[in-house]
Amino acid sequence: METDGIFNGLNEQQEMAVTSTEGAVRVIAGAGSGKTRTLTNRYAYLVSELGLEPSNLLCVTFTNKAAQEMRRRVKKLVGGERDTGYINTYHGFCVRILREDIHHLFYPKQFLILDTEDQKSILREIYDEFGLKVNDHKFARILKKIGELKADTGYVYDLISREKTIDPEQVEEVDRKIIVAYLKKQRRVYGLDFDDLLNFTLVLFGEYKDVLEKWQERLYYIQVDEFQDSSPKQFELIRILSKGHGNVFVVGDPDQTIYEWRGADPKFMVNFDQWFPGCKTVLLNENYRSTPQILDIGNALIKQNKLRVDKDMFTHNPKGVNVIHYHAKTEEEEAKWIVSRIQTLQKERGASLNEVAVLYRANYLSRFVEQALIHENLEYSIFGGFKFFERKEIKDALAHLKLLAFEDDLSFMRIINTPRRQMGKKRITFLRERSEEEGKSLYQTLVDHIDHPIFNRTKAKEFIEVIESMKIKRTELSVADLLQDLLQGTGYEAFIREDGDHERLDNLMELKHSVVQYEEAMGEEISLEYYLQMLTLYTENDREDQREAVKLMTIHTSKGLEYPYVFLVGFNERVLPNERSLRERKEYALEEERRLAYVAMTRAERELYLTESEGTSGRGEKKYPSRFLFELEESLYDRLGIIEPEFEQEAKEIIRMNNQLEATPTSDASFKRGDRVIHPVFGTGTIEEVDDRKRMYKIYFEEMEVTRPISWNFKRLEKSNV
Ligand code: ATP
Ligand code: MG
Repeated sequence: METDGIFNGLNEQQEMAVTSTEGAVRVIAGAGSGKTRTLTNRYAYLVSELGLEPSNLLCVTFTNKAAQEMRRRVKKLVGGERDTGYINTYHGFCVRILREDIHHLFYPKQFLILDTEDQKSILREIYDEFGLKVNDHKFARILKKIGELKADTGYVYDLISREKTIDPEQVEEVDRKIIVAYLKKQRRVYGLDFDDLLNFTLVLFGEYKDVLEKWQERLYYIQVDEFQDSSPKQFELIRILSKGHGNVFVVGDPDQTIYEWRGADPKFMVNFDQWFPGCKTVLLNENYRSTPQILDIGNALIKQNKLRVDKDMFTHNPKGVNVIHYHAKTEEEEAKWIVSRIQTLQKERGASLNEVAVLYRANYLSRFVEQALIHENLEYSIFGGFKFFERKEIKDALAHLKLLAFEDDLSFMRIINTPRRQMGKKRITFLRERSEEEGKSLYQTLVDHIDHPIFNRTKAKEFIEVIESMKIKRTELSVADLLQDLLQGTGYEAFIREDGDHERLDNLMELKHSVVQYEEAMGEEISLEYYLQMLTLYTENDREDQREAVKLMTIHTSKGLEYPYVFLVGFNERVLPNERSLRERKEYALEEERRLAYVAMTRAERELYLTESEGTSGRGEKKYPSRFLFELEESLYDRLGIIEPEFEQEAKEIIRMNNQLEATPTSDASFKRGDRVIHPVFGTGTIEEVDDRKRMYKIYFEEMEVTRPISWNFKRLEKSNV
């Protein structure tokens, strides 16, 4: 097999990074500067030029997709069929370790891996057993508590101990009782959730030095991509694995830290030399991905963040077309415009659909774009998530409507026991037998036999009452109202609300919103059957195996990827930045949102479109353009679509008000001139100046050799003793 050259087209710094194989090396550089490419070529260099085996190289990437892509590229460079299994995500890598060595912890090598759905089913069983109502104690809250417990590795020792564990029945406090029961069940099925994978690995290495040594010797070179998003435990894993040889190569961009909310800490990148003294630092300044226009707008945005070190990025790429901001009056208009633009790109630029990506802040935002794409018969696929109408809560909700219209068994089975109505296996079997004998639908059978003692302790009667009363009202109500009443009457909406999963609730709201919009667009009353038929057409159009398709994904999923044409849609205030970050009123929460917008923009190679629309959100709030748009000078992009001056005024007023609130809880200066402080990103510094008027410090940070203004309100500045 022919291989690409390892040094082909690498610049000087990249080449240096590739050949600096010994000791610790970090590459800090902006988006599109070739970090991932350098990392990949370095891996190939170790194999082809230095003669190492891939089985001695650990290469950690952030997503499965990135790992696959890297394996593909490496194979192209080194040729042949090698085991590139150590090119993996943190979780994937931990699975490999545990499949080999977990028996030391008295777990079988065929342990189960539990995803969130599995976790919830375990909880559901527990609630059932304890006779607790699910809505008394929300899953999300308990899962969060379990997550908190698992922030530490202590609990692992309980799980692996062969001594008799505490009996949950004996525990008084309800939450703790559930958690104890959860761990017990988890243990019984030998299941490991995502947190456990890392924790078990750390405990294994902590307790069994010989096992650790084996892995240390095996993995002689370690590389990590997207290092800025490593959590303390992930960093710990890298640190202990590399202890013997110290050959660690990390690449990252602190401006692209987007998982701080999940414990990522860019300090490992910024203060890397604290743990790896004498480490070599390579900076890459040339952007190869994007046109100057795209680079400029990304830079202008990220410069607004205060907690960062500035970079000087440039590109030799030829000037392309200007970035476009499209402002629409309605969501449909926004979607239509995007789709017609994609068609123009096909016609005028010869673009293939594969070259187009549509990015958004949250999953529910895919819906309006999906519908417009379907309408124009453009293929699309969704990365890292379900298509809107395939999501569980959407299918469930629609099953209510279908049951009302068609009384079909499928819909019945979907919802009869969601939320729980004590309609378990035994009773369903009873129904099935009767329905076959009598040749009726399951629903009708239930109606006919509802007084049978077998249904005594169930909530089937309430369910029937809701459906029957809706049948009577059917012709009077619009589809939107029918849906609303059904979801409320049956308790499905409350069930989702109590589940505490915001995303699912948002999706449900979005569904209702879409029905209202659909009815408005049709301009006349549509029947329930008509609406359902229209939907079936939508969903049947959705085939999974598309070759040529527009890629839809969240910004988080798009990390590290690149596309010639990128649309960032739903670029609205309260979406990006999201509601929560505004509510928290913390500078760093807002900065993480700004980094997200930066990640989105920097995915684009040739053309970038930022779109948003007026109207109301699924939550019924008036929508405004994102504050990030107003932070950008208008010379950086062309605007299409008209923003009325009054509307702009209003938008700015809203943003100003939010900001004001943000700034209100002022504090006094906690430090004085000459104090030594530690900043979570910039490291150790000395207060040079205390500015009473601006309520700011000027701090000199020695590691970065820069002075930065830091607000008195910034809570994460700590006193340093050194
Ligand atoms: P991100 O921060 O978004 O992950 P990155 O720094 O990892 O970006 P890469 O994805 O490695 O950047 O590279 C961006 C693009 O530039 C890729 O298409 C890559 O092939 C190309 N590229 C990188 N280095 C060079 C080079 N020296 N010459 C030409 N093209 C390059
Ligand atoms: Mg990359």
